[in-house]
Amino acid sequence: MKQTGGSVRLCAAVLAAALIWRIMGAPLTRQDFVDLKIPMWQARILLPQRLGRVIALWIAVPAQPAAAEAEQETEKADRQNVMVYLTQEDRLAQMTMAEYVQGVLAAEMPAQYHLEALKAQAVAARTRALWQMQHGGCSVHPQADICTDSAHCQGYALPEEKRKRWGAGGEAYESRLRQAQQETAGQWIAYENEPITVLYHANSGGRTEDAQTVFAQALPYLVSVESDEDPNGRDFQQETVFSYEEAAQKLDCTVQELRRSFAVAGYTDSGRVSHVQIGEKQIPAAELRRRLGLRSTWFTVVMNEEQLVFQQRGYGHGVGMSQSGANRMAASGADYRQILQHYYTGVEIVFSE
Ligand SMILES: [Zn+2]
Repeated sequence: MKQTGGSVRLCAAVLAAALIWRIMGAPLTRQDFVDLKIPMWQARILLPQRLGRVIALWIAVPAQPAAAEAEQETEKADRQNVMVYLTQEDRLAQMTMAEYVQGVLAAEMPAQYHLEALKAQAVAARTRALWQMQHGGCSVHPQADICTDSAHCQGYALPEEKRKRWGAGGEAYESRLRQAQQETAGQWIAYENEPITVLYHANSGGRTEDAQTVFAQALPYLVSVESDEDPNGRDFQQETVFSYEEAAQKLDCTVQELRRSFAVAGYTDSGRVSHVQIGEKQIPAAELRRRLGLRSTWFTVVMNEEQLVFQQRGYGHGVGMSQSGANRMAASGADYRQILQHYYTGVEIVFSE
C-alpha cells in the first residue's frame, strides 16, 4: 500500500515536470535544442516571463472570440525565434519572426505604401532573415542571426523610433504592417529551393541594375529589369551641387585635376555610370557615390565655372526590388507575388512554418 502511494506520487511528479517543461516552451527535440540559441542564464531569466504569459493565456483564452483563433493560426508560421542585434541599443534581443518582420517593415518601407507593396517587402524581409540564418548570421555580431544596421544587414525600427516617425497616425500604420506580415506569414522567396540573396532599394529611376555590376557577383535572379516609376516621385530625380574645392576634398584629389580631367569613363548596360576618370585614375561609380553621398550611380554631370552639378536618377544601388516601383505596381493592381516575381527573375514564393 505504502509502495503504491510512493509510485503514484512519483508518476505525478514526473507528469507535472513534463507539463511544466512543455508549458515553458522548452526544446522538444535535439534540433530544437540546437536551434535554441540562448545561453542557460538567459533562459532562466525568461522563465518567470513565460510563466506569466501562460497564466495570462489561461485567463484570456476562454474569453477569446473564434475569429482570433483563425488569426492565431496564420501567426503560427512566423513564431520561430530570431536573434537580432539591436545596433541602436547595442544589445542582443530574441524575438519571433513575426515581430522581426513588422519592425523591418517600419524601418525599410514607408508605411503609407500600398498593402501589396508592404506584403512584398514583408516576404523580402523574412527571406533576408532566413538567408542569414543559413549563412552563419551577422558577420559583425556572431551571436546574432541579423543586425539592425541597414548598411550591414537590414534596418529594424524600435517602438520609440516608430512613434517618432509616425506620430499620431501610429496605430493605423502599426496595424497595416501587422496585416502585411500576417497575410504573408511563413512565405519566402526561393530560387532552386533556397532562400535568395535579397536586395532592394528605394527607387530604380526606371530600370534596375544587375547584381554583378554593383557587387561583383552574378546571381540569376538579380538581373536588370524595367521598373515603372513615378516621374514626379520624390526619389526619381535629384540634383546635387558641389564646389570644386568641396568635391576635390571628398574625392582626395586636387581642384586642377578635377577641372581638367573629371569625366564619366563608362556605363553599365542599364545606363548607370560604371567608372569615372580623375587624373590618371579611374574610380568605380559606387565609390564616387559613397564619397560624395550621391543618391545613385545613375547620373549626368555638368561642370560649369564654379560648380559640378550631378543630376541623379533613382535612389539606392538599384539592385533587386525597387520599393517605389513595387508601390506603383501595387497601385495598378499587381499583388505581392507578381511584384516579387517581376523584380526577382525566375523565383518562387514558397511557404514553410
Ligand atoms: Zn549585420
